[in-house]
Amino acid sequence: MPNLSIWEKETWYSHQDILIVGAGLMGLWSALELKQRKPSLQITIIERNTTPLGASTRNAGFACFGSPTELIHNADTIGTDAMLQIVAQRHKGIEKIKAHFPQAAIGFDPCGGYECINNDYKGWNNLNDQISWLNRSLQSVTGKEQSFTRSDEKLSQLGLRGFDALIENVSEASLHSGRLVQSLTQKVLAAGVTILYGMEIESWEKKNHQILIFTKQEQRLSATQLLFCTNAFTHTLLPELHITPGRGQVVVTTPIEGLAMKGTFHFDEGFYYWRNLGNRILLGGARNRAFEEEETLDLSGSDKIKEALMMFLQAHLDPSYQFRIEHHWSGIMGFTDDKRPFLGRVSEGVFASIACNGMGVALTPVIAEDAAGLLLSYF
Ligand SMILES: Cc1cc2nc3c(=O)[nH]c(=O)nc-3n(C[C@H](O)[C@H](O)[C@H](O)COP(=O)(O)OP(=O)(O)OC[C@H]3O[C@@H](n4cnc5c(N)ncnc54)[C@H](O)[C@@H]3O)c2cc1C
Repeated sequence: MPNLSIWEKETWYSHQDILIVGAGLMGLWSALELKQRKPSLQITIIERNTTPLGASTRNAGFACFGSPTELIHNADTIGTDAMLQIVAQRHKGIEKIKAHFPQAAIGFDPCGGYECINNDYKGWNNLNDQISWLNRSLQSVTGKEQSFTRSDEKLSQLGLRGFDALIENVSEASLHSGRLVQSLTQKVLAAGVTILYGMEIESWEKKNHQILIFTKQEQRLSATQLLFCTNAFTHTLLPELHITPGRGQVVVTTPIEGLAMKGTFHFDEGFYYWRNLGNRILLGGARNRAFEEEETLDLSGSDKIKEALMMFLQAHLDPSYQFRIEHHWSGIMGFTDDKRPFLGRVSEGVFASIACNGMGVALTPVIAEDAAGLLLSYF
């Protein structure tokens, strides 16, 4: 405990070895990994909301390692090796989730997935070659000769129209993101980690090899190490990391009689994604219709995106389907400039593990392993 007056000592929470900020998937997996590697560690997570409120409880529940056009785009922008590394992390992450929780507990459904593609896609003319290249490249990761197969003939069977090609990926799955957060939270608590909800870090300072943490609620804390898992909300805390927020919006329809489709679906390099959720369609995306407006931390959503999602459904679902939008919500993702997650030491004793760039369900369990290794290497 640092040198403090009697009054200060009495308002101080017991010293922690590691204090994690943010109880989303990244904070939870990191706490679990640290505790499993070193059970004697005193770890507390602080979370400013009554439940984690950013991306982890608001996502679409795709347990996926990437759609073909998204992976091809990534290979073009960050290089094939970096793309394959992310695919390998996501693949491992899905296996880790399956190993940690019974499928029923987290609503895990190995339903398989598809990407819909149109003939205005820039790689349309050599699509089959690109798929063959991806299959060869991914074989060492997935263990499958053909991770992706062309299944255009299934488009109409699935009740879809307005697309020219369909690529199937039998390894894809979906899960219930709220149940995943809940089950993981229970595991973290059972491992002996404390979670303080309703506590928001405002500032911190280094004093005598310890970090003093000041919260909006005027509770003071101290820790040897501080790990930020604050994703999109990192900008105000650590502006030097240049994390950009990106709001993702989701709509859910009323139940649709005769809904044929099963599985997870992607379109347009991952900018649209949908799945069958109890005979309703859960559809998210359209952020590329208003990039600047969606660069926000405001969770209230917008009519513009909601309308774009409704128009997408009208254009691509079998016209005989009768439905309306019953639910609409938003979550906030965090993006780095190079679209790769950031894990690093920010200053002495202070670390950040953030920005899964919109794909954290599968990535967080694996990045948490690296985060734990990094923190313990300085402990
Ligand atoms: C609409 C939408 C759909 C998505 N769909 C998918 C999908 O299908 N598959 C997939 O893999 N990924 C998806 N994602 C992305 C995925 O949800 C995220 O990558 C992942 O949840 C990030 O987890 P996190 O813990 O880093 O961030 P978050 O879940 O955002 O957690 C950060 C936490 O930090 C807390 N916090 C912030 N500031 C402070 C502070 N000052 N003090 C204390 N606490 C603080 C916040 O309250 C929050 O709970 C989607 C995201 C969105 C928004």
